[in-house]
Amino acid sequence: MPKRSNQHAGIADFEGKAAELAEARRYLHAHPELSFQEQETAAFVADRLERWGYEVTRNVGGLGVVGRLRQGSGGRSIAIRADMDALPITETTGLPYASKTAGKMHACGHDGHTTMLLGAAEYLARTRHFNGTVNLVFQPAEEAGKNSGAQAMIADGLFERFPCDAVFGLHNHPGAPVGTFLMRAGPLMAASDTVMIRILGRGGHASRPHQTVDPIVAAANMVMTLQTVVSRNVNPVEAAVVTVGMIHGGTASNVIPESSEISLSVRSFSAGVRDTLEQRIRGIAASIAEAHGASIEIDYERGYPVVTNSEGETAFATEVVTELVGEDNVSVCPLIPGSEDFSYFLEHKPGCFLRLGNGEDSAILHSSKYDFNDGNLTVGAALWARLAERFLAA
Ligand code: ZN
Repeated sequence: MPKRSNQHAGIADFEGKAAELAEARRYLHAHPELSFQEQETAAFVADRLERWGYEVTRNVGGLGVVGRLRQGSGGRSIAIRADMDALPITETTGLPYASKTAGKMHACGHDGHTTMLLGAAEYLARTRHFNGTVNLVFQPAEEAGKNSGAQAMIADGLFERFPCDAVFGLHNHPGAPVGTFLMRAGPLMAASDTVMIRILGRGGHASRPHQTVDPIVAAANMVMTLQTVVSRNVNPVEAAVVTVGMIHGGTASNVIPESSEISLSVRSFSAGVRDTLEQRIRGIAASIAEAHGASIEIDYERGYPVVTNSEGETAFATEVVTELVGEDNVSVCPLIPGSEDFSYFLEHKPGCFLRLGNGEDSAILHSSKYDFNDGNLTVGAALWARLAERFLAA
């Protein structure tokens, strides 16, 4: 149907493309590539963008792809990001388009994120109802945990080479109805840090504990005392998590080992709380070790920072999604204890990370039974097209 130039993109504009988008998504789903290995996926994306008339730059920060489209004389520019990588999981969905490779799977829906942005890309190039510059950022290695794709693209000059006024991204959200958006200004997703504490004691015979420094008892004491960090040191109206996910030590019941190890996952939603957690964990580990006559080695590794949405861009994106799906399908997103490397983009530019419902009965993210809901492809493509058109209003 012909579209008046003063109208912005809506879901109906993509209904004719639904089958094509599903086919692309299912192709990507069947051919997953792990972080830093997204050669085929990056080529799939770059080839299409080139065909549609984008200025395409490959190998930005490794396998990242940026497609730039300029229209008119407008000076504003927007960046929209999708992630491309899969996970080291063997798929058990039994779907006809399931992963063709054991041990690799799109279990986080990045196949869907990439396809939605490609859907918008084709539409924007064909219709060009905007005035300014669109930068479409296809990012590798979101799942890397450290030295991830976002950091690599930024270090490779992403924002200098492709300047933008704001950056937007999206993740699907199992548990919320398909086609509904969850929005939140300010902190949205947690900072995620990993801590390894090695307790160095003195080993010996289990029958002669007085001649040893027992690293097992020290570790047990540490695990219990670490439970007080969130309950006693963090302001009760703030959220944080300290989980001891691993405890290793010893080889036999009649041997006191030389050392033991505990490993922690630490989550927070503000820089202040993040610092408090680190300071208390280090303090507790050192003083408990000392109380037992042991010493410690600690490896405190900061992972992705907090995803913090800026007020103005979140209000704008909320306006756009409300126009698109109606206010009954837009809700406030709860804080999410998971983490996401989109946070690095938001450290450099104002912007908003949105969540799009993947269905109330969707398997959870990173499950071997997870599948992206294709019912979202037209919604997500329309979202990015409309958001770009509105941000770069002619
Ligand atoms: Zn993900």
